[in-house]
Amino acid sequence: MRYANIIINLKTRQLDKLFTYAIPPQFRGNISSGHRVVVPFGRGQYVEGVVWSTTDRAPDFKVRPIAQILPDCYALSKTQQVIMTALRKYYMATYQEAYLSVLPSVQKLDKIVVYNVLKAFDDYSVGQRLDAQQLADYGTRQLVEKVKSGQLEKHLTFDFKHRKKTVEWVVKRYSDLSMALQKVAKRAVKKQRILKHMAYIDALPLGDLCKATRATRRDLVALVEAGFFELEKRDWQYQSASWQVQSQPLERPPLSAEQERVVQAYLAQAEPRGALLNGVTGSGKTRVYIELAKRALQSGKQVLMLVPEISLTPQLVARFSSQLTSDIGVIHTYIKPADKIAIYQRIKSGDIKIVIGARSAIFAPFNDLGLIAIDEEHEYSYKSETIPRYHTVELALALAKEMKIDILLGSATPSIKTHHLVDVGALQALYLKRAFSGSKLSDIQIVDMTALPSGTMISAPLYNAMKACFENSQQVILFHNRKGYARMRQCHSCGYVHMCRNCAVPMTVYEGGRQFACHYCGYREPEVPDCPICGERMADIGIGIEQIESELRRLFPGRKFAVIDADTTRNQTAYRALLREFEDGKIDGLIGTQVLAKGLDFANVTLVGVLLADQLIHMPDYNSTERAYQLLTQVAGRAGRSTLHGTALIQTYQPEHPLFDYVIKRDFSGFVREEKRLRDLVGYPPYVTIFTIKVQSENKLKAFQQGQRIYEFYDKNFIKNQIDAKVYPPLEPYYGKIRQQYHLQIVFKVAKRSRAAVLKTLYYGIVKNKYNLIEPACWVDVDFDG
Ligand code: ADP
Ligand code: ZN
Repeated sequence: MRYANIIINLKTRQLDKLFTYAIPPQFRGNISSGHRVVVPFGRGQYVEGVVWSTTDRAPDFKVRPIAQILPDCYALSKTQQVIMTALRKYYMATYQEAYLSVLPSVQKLDKIVVYNVLKAFDDYSVGQRLDAQQLADYGTRQLVEKVKSGQLEKHLTFDFKHRKKTVEWVVKRYSDLSMALQKVAKRAVKKQRILKHMAYIDALPLGDLCKATRATRRDLVALVEAGFFELEKRDWQYQSASWQVQSQPLERPPLSAEQERVVQAYLAQAEPRGALLNGVTGSGKTRVYIELAKRALQSGKQVLMLVPEISLTPQLVARFSSQLTSDIGVIHTYIKPADKIAIYQRIKSGDIKIVIGARSAIFAPFNDLGLIAIDEEHEYSYKSETIPRYHTVELALALAKEMKIDILLGSATPSIKTHHLVDVGALQALYLKRAFSGSKLSDIQIVDMTALPSGTMISAPLYNAMKACFENSQQVILFHNRKGYARMRQCHSCGYVHMCRNCAVPMTVYEGGRQFACHYCGYREPEVPDCPICGERMADIGIGIEQIESELRRLFPGRKFAVIDADTTRNQTAYRALLREFEDGKIDGLIGTQVLAKGLDFANVTLVGVLLADQLIHMPDYNSTERAYQLLTQVAGRAGRSTLHGTALIQTYQPEHPLFDYVIKRDFSGFVREEKRLRDLVGYPPYVTIFTIKVQSENKLKAFQQGQRIYEFYDKNFIKNQIDAKVYPPLEPYYGKIRQQYHLQIVFKVAKRSRAAVLKTLYYGIVKNKYNLIEPACWVDVDFDG
């Protein structure tokens, strides 16, 4: 091919297009789609890009040649390219946004200035290449002078932030080292240790091996001289501190009859396979993922295991690594850049076969992906809240379909959307009904709060149950979805609410009123005095988790309680220590927000309390009942994990709400049936698609004008083109101002068959701005659901 269409890595939303360049003769045959390149752009500028397609047809305008091509190992894989297409097609990502999504930040290129010495000066001779650091002794003006006078020539090049270096690896010469073990003297303890350590491993970085065996380089060199190992210099990208070593024996329990049936039914499908695995908590879904992963590995394929929360990953990784003989790449935000590079390189080369990670792991450069398993597929953390606003499950389904990859979605409470995919025949439904431990599900009871004095936090039934629990030396988990001390501080007399100075959001009260913070922009403030309007004293409204903690200390003196929220979990070390203390019985009760709902198993917890279920039902979102059902069953599942009987008490001011009936009876399929009926009736996803155009501006009037313009355009457009879609006038979202930016939303309800047509008009209207809809003072983007 002689020409390449290239995505230029420049933020040019209005320029969502490809740029054509000539492929110079020396690169021909080596460049294909996915290759990363450096090209000239504009006057005297060079930018980085990626080849999207190649062609032999000469364009009818003059093109410039590609300047540089990056080695194959940095090229995007086929899966990454398919994902980029999906991001464009479904989520209206521009070429550049799609590219940056799949490109790990560590592989981004940095522009670097280098100087070539044309005439010798000081210590430098002709032909030397110097970077800015080497020339730090010369001031900017001096450098400009030297360039002008022809001593230096200035160049712009690209390099990774993490430069190349080589690392020494120890490579085994024979796979069986038992002979070597006999030959090495018994008292050469360190050498013995090295040989034993390498029994199951072919190669390791020298540094890692020495650390693991507490041996020195000298010990190793002796073993190399004896002919057992070789030392090999490898690129830095192979180095990794979190290198997974497989040396313990496999402990894979045989499948239960129920699991066996599920696995067989899955495998019996025509390829590519797709199924929903609906299994109650503890039914062994993870065992099924491992079994299917094993089979994918046997046929030489790679496996992607997606999990919603990174804090849940260690347990799962441990189970995968103890039950499968393959290196596992774990991807999450906290990995060190060097490790991340290493993992990506090894996924690309096919060396790592199993990848476990949260949603961004779907962007990894798979070489030959055979199975995508998604645990807790209903979790909302699979949805990206930043542009492009993709949903990992949808993206995975699109990828699986396009590349013929098997897919399995697992959950105890699958989303209504996924149920719908089963209804339309896109996924097979598989069930695991029996929990493994044999433990009974907890009893769920509703506590009516309506008759109690206002401000009651702990009702009598909950108090008594807690008391009984503590007397039996058992533990309690309480769930309350509100951080801090109170939701807001308000004046009783005039109604004034203390708001954030950047957002139209009340400040959350912390530390009993000594701190105020905004959850949206992070703005903090100390003590707030009396009402600035009428001078009256203000009161705290909306009980938060801190208040509950002090109430508990009052009710149960001598008992120990701890609070867990999203802030607590941020410090992983402290968080784990706290959980260990609870496990060891040093803490009697945990009070937590929804972070507590997930995956925590404590054998001694027999009581769970939900302090205010009403909070969950009254979210301004059609999803809130589904979410409430999932959360309540998850929370209830924290009690009675062992042979001890568990109880869950749910406090509410609306005991007659139909949701509770389903929750108490654990009638999930009944709930799903009713919820589907309602959504179909009213017109909510998955029966229609909802698009939301989000408008943002510093100027409130501009935001409104902009919103109105978009609304009117699409209202007319849909009627004129007979598109089965309805657009609603612009509305302020729940919080209309965040970080000094005014927000507006325009909602579209679109019949499934019109989705493609609407996506197209949205693309031209919002991304390309072909209809001149978007004003410069506004920022506009699109989200969709269903
Ligand atoms: P889930 O992922 O559905 O919540 P898990 O896979 O965590 O369930 O399994 C629950 C418990 O049952 C775990 O302790 C697991 O080790 C055990 N388990 C699962 N499958 C088997 C099996 N086939 N034989 C023995 N124990 C099993
Ligand atoms: Zn704020």
